[in-house]
Amino acid sequence: MDELYNEDELLAHLKEKSKHRMRRVIEKMTDYERGYKQALDDISSPQAVVAERWSLSECPRCAENFRDYEPCDDGYYKRAMSMLRCPYCGQKLDWSKVN
Ligand SMILES: [Zn+2]
Repeated sequence: MDELYNEDELLAHLKEKSKHRMRRVIEKMTDYERGYKQALDDISSPQAVVAERWSLSECPRCAENFRDYEPCDDGYYKRAMSMLRCPYCGQKLDWSKVN
C-alpha cells in the first residue's frame, strides 16, 4: 500500500513538473510569436526612403542603395518611386517626402 501511495505522489510530482515545463514552453512560444509579429508589422509599415540630393536613394532599413534601379542622367538620379518595397530586405517604402 505504501508503495502505491509513493507512486501516486511521484506521478503527481511529475505531472506538476511537466505542467510547469509546458507553461514555460508556451511562454517562450508567445515571445517568439510576438517577435515575429513585430517584425512583420515593422517591415510592412512604410518607412521614408533616404534620398539625399545628388545621391542614389537608400533603404531606411538595410541602407542598401538602389543603384540597379535608378539610372543616372546628367547627375540626376531617376528615383525608383514605383518600387513599393526594398528589393534587398523587403522593407515597405514611403516615397511621399522625396522630390
Ligand atoms: Zn532594405
